[in-house]
Amino acid sequence: MRFPRTTLVDFARRAAGSGLLVGPEGNLSLKVKDQIFITPSGVSKEELRPEDIAVLDREGNLLEGKNPSSESKMHLAIYQAREGLSAIIHAHPPYTLALYLAGEDFSQFYLPEARIYLKKVTKVPLLPPGSEELAARVSEAAKEAQVIILSGHGAVTLGKNLTEAFNLMLILEKVSQVTWLAKNLRKDLEPLS
Ligand code: 13P
Ligand code: ZN
Repeated sequence: MRFPRTTLVDFARRAAGSGLLVGPEGNLSLKVKDQIFITPSGVSKEELRPEDIAVLDREGNLLEGKNPSSESKMHLAIYQAREGLSAIIHAHPPYTLALYLAGEDFSQFYLPEARIYLKKVTKVPLLPPGSEELAARVSEAAKEAQVIILSGHGAVTLGKNLTEAFNLMLILEKVSQVTWLAKNLRKDLEPLS
């Protein structure tokens, strides 16, 4: 079966190649009918193979493969909260993380593209990775936005497909990088009105 396993592997490699995650960081999933295809836990994204992808039902029971991502609960809870969306990417984008750690709260934007594409960024506090609490908070935040920052940890983007979720993650990180560069040159940078 090519889709959706090879599609997930392809986007996982692209996320690694774009510096959005390194090694085993992050996880990606696709919902196809009533099944969730998700990357395995602890496997380097550059080394991921289609047969490594785990398949879960909507309740999280393992149907195929082994060792699904430790953030499976978070992915399942998001799909429950946002019925219309079918793809989730969780990554650890460095500029986004650094900016948020340094106090930028993403409630204001400096670039029109941020407003046009990201629209709204919601945030959740620092919680243990893989925890029920993280899953609950992220799925709540996902009701209001397709871009969520996990404090001290990373980001989650949602889409109708992996292209949409991936582009949101790329744009979030690009906007963060430009903001970081500009703020290093000028501390009193004015946000968009
Ligand atoms: P997994 O390898 O279990 O998917 O975990 C990676 C991660 O980013 C946890 O938050
Ligand atoms: Zn993570």
